[in-house]
Amino acid sequence: MITFTDVTKTYPGQKRPALSGVSATIEDGEFVFLVGPSGSGKSTFLRLVLRETRATSGQVVVDGRDLGRMRGWRIPKLRRGIGTVFQDFRLLPGKTVHENVAFALQVIGRPGRDIRRTVPATLEMVGLADKADRLPEELSGGEQQRAALARAVVNAPRILLADEPTGNLDPSTSVGIMKLLDQINKDGTTVLMATHDSTVVDQMRRRVIELSNGELIRDQAQGVYGYQ
Ligand code: ADP
Ligand code: ADP
Repeated sequence: MITFTDVTKTYPGQKRPALSGVSATIEDGEFVFLVGPSGSGKSTFLRLVLRETRATSGQVVVDGRDLGRMRGWRIPKLRRGIGTVFQDFRLLPGKTVHENVAFALQVIGRPGRDIRRTVPATLEMVGLADKADRLPEELSGGEQQRAALARAVVNAPRILLADEPTGNLDPSTSVGIMKLLDQINKDGTTVLMATHDSTVVDQMRRRVIELSNGELIRDQAQGVYGYQ
């Protein structure tokens, strides 16, 4: 599903690469944690998968496509197959939960009857059926992240990228979000989650890829967080 082959990324004007010689294969249906201290290259890894940036050398292949060679007009289609969630939720303020999730389908031109069927089912899945008409600013952090997750998966993406999704949540709320991510993964979505949350990583015991100064220093099945 995602293959990095000897990937190096050096941002313009930087001496040190953000990623250096990284190789890893993430199979269809896997759940992978990306760990490492701040500045170790986690976000760069995720941005490469989204083709928000390109490798300086090496190859990034997503769903059979070499992103270094991908033409610009194909990028929107690539991104439609990849859901994203972030630490800061990034919901549209002033739009209800239903509208936030529906918007993700409207922008890709899905018909209204589809949207009216799919959105309530997705909100049900994340446990927000009763909050559909609330605004994000009226919700708790955990509820906002559930709404963001609903928006990320309403289009049934093959891949879900999560960048510190529990970073703004207390531990008990984080457990609920992880249960949802686990469910989404069991339903067939490949999940790649960058995190500093050692509790979550140690509880889930999924594959762990650790970066340090841009280098892949550990790739462990049923791994633990493992660094201080
Ligand atoms: P992490 O997500 O693990 O905190 P990043 O991928 O954000 O790591 O950053 C890795 C390195 O690349 C850091 O040294 C960071 O300062 C640098 N970096 C990230 N984005 C840019 C950018 N757009 N331009 C220049 N340097 C960047
Ligand atoms: P895009 O290519 O979609 O504009 P990028 O952030 O990947 O977005 O690239 C910014 C600029 O740098 C573009 O003009 C692009 O052609 C160039 N560029 C980026 N990465 C590479 C690369 N690996 N090889 C050649 N040119 C690159």
